[in-house]
Amino acid sequence: MTDCGCDKAKAELEEYLHNELSAEDFRDITDHMANCEDCSEEHLVGLKLTARVQEACREKAPAELRDAILSRLTARA
Ligand SMILES: [Zn+2]
Repeated sequence: MTDCGCDKAKAELEEYLHNELSAEDFRDITDHMANCEDCSEEHLVGLKLTARVQEACREKAPAELRDAILSRLTARA
């Protein structure tokens, strides 16, 4: 098995967080993150941000706050 590498893992992290990857890519990224502290760290940060966005949407937070979080998310892509 070959490691897909940090570039691919980071490029597809957003899709990974949103469950938009194919099963094959999903497995590649999961495998990579299991062996790469840097990317798994990145993933954890992404998870927290995603959770905050979902919370903000549920609580109908000010659109401004939601936009700020969303732009941080897209800036990571
Ligand atoms: Zn990595």
